[in-house]
Amino acid sequence: MSSSCLFCRIIAGEIPATKVYEDDVLVAFNDINPQAPMHVLLVPRVHVATLNDLGANHDAVVGAMVRRAAAIAAERGFAASGYRTVFNCNADAGQAVFHIHLHMLGGRAMGWPPG
Ligand code: AMP
Ligand code: ZN
Repeated sequence: MSSSCLFCRIIAGEIPATKVYEDDVLVAFNDINPQAPMHVLLVPRVHVATLNDLGANHDAVVGAMVRRAAAIAAERGFAASGYRTVFNCNADAGQAVFHIHLHMLGGRAMGWPPG
């Protein structure tokens, strides 16, 4: 837990968010500025600033994040139609919150390449 980290504070309940799933490894909540009809952020409870800071000890956590994203998408009926999952890393990708998070977006068709 980092007291200066927005997502650590959401996980701790110090800042409100609309949580859609949580377990002992991760928390999922709606993005405050949704870019699609479904825009959920999946955040590990452990504070890791960027993808560059992941170690082998985090493999199970990242696997749980990706598998939970797929499960939430399936629950919401997006498994067949499709959805987008994104990890932004550092400035060129537009990372704004330095606690890793998996964006999951669905409910509209998306272009490629991303902007
Ligand atoms: P990134 O640019 O990948 O770091 O994404 C950060 C995301 O966090 C953005 O999509 C923001 O809209 C989202 N965000 C920022 N503050 C909050 C908040 N208080 N609750 C939920 N989502 C947030
Ligand atoms: Zn954090």
